[in-house]
Amino acid sequence: MARPNPKPGDPIADLVDSLLVELGENPRRPGLRDTPDRVARALRELTNGYDLKPKDVIADAIFEQDYDEMVLVKDIPFYSLCEHHMLPFFGQVHVGYLPKGRVVGLSKIPRLVEVFSRRLQIQEQLTNQVADALNTALTPKGVGVVVEARHLCMEMRGVETPGGRMITSRMLGTFRRDPRTRSEFLDLVRRS
Ligand SMILES: [Zn+2]
Repeated sequence: MARPNPKPGDPIADLVDSLLVELGENPRRPGLRDTPDRVARALRELTNGYDLKPKDVIADAIFEQDYDEMVLVKDIPFYSLCEHHMLPFFGQVHVGYLPKGRVVGLSKIPRLVEVFSRRLQIQEQLTNQVADALNTALTPKGVGVVVEARHLCMEMRGVETPGGRMITSRMLGTFRRDPRTRSEFLDLVRRS
């Protein structure tokens, strides 16, 4: 993952300074003195997925392989920021695919999730982007992606009960067409 690249005098720091004043704070008090810089660095890091393309992280780990059973990577943790409130949503991603002559190194699938989660996002789009990127890179028989997440913009504002999860999924190819493939995938995802 590319390191965040906070230039000295990152404009985000100045904006956070103004934001603190607007919130009724004194950005000069000791506890807040370094906050604008810290927030700038954190935001650069949490959005560094914009600088990455899926092929940058997986292209060198795609192998020709005659394996034709389902490949599943479960419980990939992710942290993202919702594009409506810039507050965290986070949870797990489950990714499955049925290879057609090509597989990808397993450690690369969490990297792929990171490319898309480290941006301002909505959960539905994150789900689709992970599925579509894998589908494009491997042209497998099918891809399934399930994302389970908690949204702090809803929980902290009392819009939704704390701990409630939102679940989204995207099924492509045989995962969409063949009910047996889809239920095999979903059974494996549910099994803990
Ligand atoms: Zn939100």
